[in-house]
Amino acid sequence: MARDADVAVVGAGIVGLAIAWEAARAGRSVVVIDPEPGSGATFAAAGMLAPVSELHYQEEDLLGLTLASAALYPEFIAPLAAAGVASGFRPTGTLVVGADAADRQALADLRQLQLRHGRGVEPLGLRQVRGQEPMLGPQLSCASSIEQDHQVDPRILAAGLQAALAGSATGKGRDGWLLRDRAARLLHADPSDASSAVTGVGLAGGTAVRAGEVVLANGLGAAGIGGLPEGLRLPLRPVHGDILRLRVPAPLRPLLTATVRGLVRGLPVYLVPREDGTVVLGATQREDGSAEVSAGGVYQLLRDAQVLVPAVAELELGEATARARPGTPDNAPLLGRVAAGGTCVPGLILATGFFRHGVLLAPAAARICRLLMGGRGDPGWDRFRPDRFSPSLIEKSLM
Ligand SMILES: Cc1cc2nc3c(=O)[nH]c(=O)nc-3n(C[C@H](O)[C@H](O)[C@H](O)COP(=O)(O)OP(=O)(O)OC[C@H]3O[C@@H](n4cnc5c(N)ncnc54)[C@H](O)[C@@H]3O)c2cc1C
Repeated sequence: MARDADVAVVGAGIVGLAIAWEAARAGRSVVVIDPEPGSGATFAAAGMLAPVSELHYQEEDLLGLTLASAALYPEFIAPLAAAGVASGFRPTGTLVVGADAADRQALADLRQLQLRHGRGVEPLGLRQVRGQEPMLGPQLSCASSIEQDHQVDPRILAAGLQAALAGSATGKGRDGWLLRDRAARLLHADPSDASSAVTGVGLAGGTAVRAGEVVLANGLGAAGIGGLPEGLRLPLRPVHGDILRLRVPAPLRPLLTATVRGLVRGLPVYLVPREDGTVVLGATQREDGSAEVSAGGVYQLLRDAQVLVPAVAELELGEATARARPGTPDNAPLLGRVAAGGTCVPGLILATGFFRHGVLLAPAAARICRLLMGGRGDPGWDRFRPDRFSPSLIEKSLM
């Protein structure tokens, strides 16, 4: 059967774009399918590349992947810089601060976990931290510094990856890499067998794309694609986040030089300073199902951020956004091939469920998918296989 592309990537969020670009750089022809590129969780994300400060109890399995991806970032963005395309990457450090005594204790516990995993966290005196960041408020109980956690502006990176893909597109013109349509279903070599090889994607507009590999990287939308392999369960759930973008008036600049992550009466809040002088203030985690910006969420963010940095009250509200993170039961991604009848479904890769870490994990996802496409999957990442919540598939593959 004739192919339209070597690889069809469904979803042009940060993960799909990263996978598409890495595949294109490896010499594969690529088509990305998305009615509205960059409009999902990627549009909201703060872009903290924070494997250490994001380390949580019971998510320790993720640490190897988050650290590997953070380490890949410089080489992942280097070709963008070489082509004169902005990536939005900033090697700013991270300060972790607590408000009251209970926050200090909670952060001390977390520091033990970070140290247990060999991660450097440097405790700072309050005078020292205020010398570093004079806008921090007087009510802090503790502070520490994590040098290796950085940031990227996901909107700039997504735009940069789109520009890079347009630059690498051949044959069909600069927009040939992108189909602004919705993927509706997987096409199979045997249309009556959803576990047979995947040969392409049927689109809502009525056309189809034929490809040697189909990568489902459409976040929460992955579970709704027709023709998924029989028995595959994708337990994705939306975890909404409210996030603010604030403009800093000239006399207050720079408000901060490092990302500040705080715990205020047990609630996490962060401020990420961007290169253009703005600050990103986030983020809530809601499972109430509402996709709209929550008034209570905005109130909570502004209230808690002012404890850390009182001058937040003097900033201009540029934007309030809410988007859904694609959550999974173990907070880890669904990444890799799918088992069927003791082997894997040829032509299909899943890359979804990146929850709070999709921006950080994009380079690792791209690398893992490239290796899978080349037939060189790394068993070290098998624990993130997308069929791990599908007992019938796992049982069959063990038989
Ligand atoms: C408030 C907030 C703050 C965050 N902060 C951070 C952070 O600091 N660091 C970090 O690493 N992560 C952060 N995240 C998480 C991160 O945003 C996500 O993990 C990441 O964006 C997931 O990327 P994705 O490409 O998988 O999904 P998305 O960005 O959601 O993209 C999915 C794309 O698929 C498209 N799509 C859906 N269905 C279809 C279909 N049927 N056909 C074609 N296209 C389709 C959509 O249009 C969309 O463009 C944050 C998230 C939120 C909400």
